[in-house]
Amino acid sequence: MKKLTVSLVFLFLAVSLFSFDWPVKHIIVTSTFGESRGDHFHTGIDLGGGAQTVYPISDGEVIFEHTSGQYSSIPIGLGNFVVLQHKGNIRSIYCHLKDNSIKVGTSVLRNEKLGVIGDTGHSFGKHLHLSIIDLETHSILNPLSLLPQVPDSQPPIIKNVFLKIGDKIEKVSHIKNVKPSRAQILVETYDLREDVSFIWKLAPYVIILYENGAELGRITFNSITEHTGKLVLNGTDKSFNDVYKSDWTYKLNFIELLEGENHFLIVVKDFAGNETMRDYFVKIGKVK
Ligand SMILES: [Zn+2]
Repeated sequence: MKKLTVSLVFLFLAVSLFSFDWPVKHIIVTSTFGESRGDHFHTGIDLGGGAQTVYPISDGEVIFEHTSGQYSSIPIGLGNFVVLQHKGNIRSIYCHLKDNSIKVGTSVLRNEKLGVIGDTGHSFGKHLHLSIIDLETHSILNPLSLLPQVPDSQPPIIKNVFLKIGDKIEKVSHIKNVKPSRAQILVETYDLREDVSFIWKLAPYVIILYENGAELGRITFNSITEHTGKLVLNGTDKSFNDVYKSDWTYKLNFIELLEGENHFLIVVKDFAGNETMRDYFVKIGKVK
């Protein structure tokens, strides 16, 4: 019991010492962690809401800053950006800032202004791109896992499910006259939030595939790390091309379609825990 109390106290201390907060007052998430960017994962979140003031997610020190056009060797996509070092081996990066007047070595407090949301660099409209890096695990974290939870009651949408048999991709509802075979499950899915009133697609947090009640595999956008020169989902060897068929279509596991009725289940969750679950039954005829 004493041990438990001690570790609870330690946990409380760690959380309160290294607590993080949203970098803007008006929170509108316009892009989530892990989303497809055509040929790579989105390694942070995007926040909209116009030219809002940007605050550090926690007290920190400016260890790098870049003003567009300053050095030609830096990728211009990030626009004006600032990198902060926080306690606990955490770094945060704020991109596409309007202008940049903060200097390296400056200590910033949580409630001090870091900049203003802009659209410098590779940006379609004013937004803040926030990335968080954990130096200890050498990984890029999903910022939602460190920031306080915000209300979101909209579950993800499962739009379509496809089976890939050989080179052929077919909607699961159109499958007929198929012999027993090995098939890859593809799912077109996206999440929604209340932040914008129209349909604005976001990557979900977890996609899980079950076959006959047993989990076959999952995709989780928790953190991304480097593995043999590629960025992969942490704890896996799944790179961008292993995860994405196209922008909103994810590659899940292979299943063996056997003669008779085959059952699989797809569960998609967002970060707030809203989930959508769908059952699929595929009938496979007798081998002739
Ligand atoms: Zn971004």
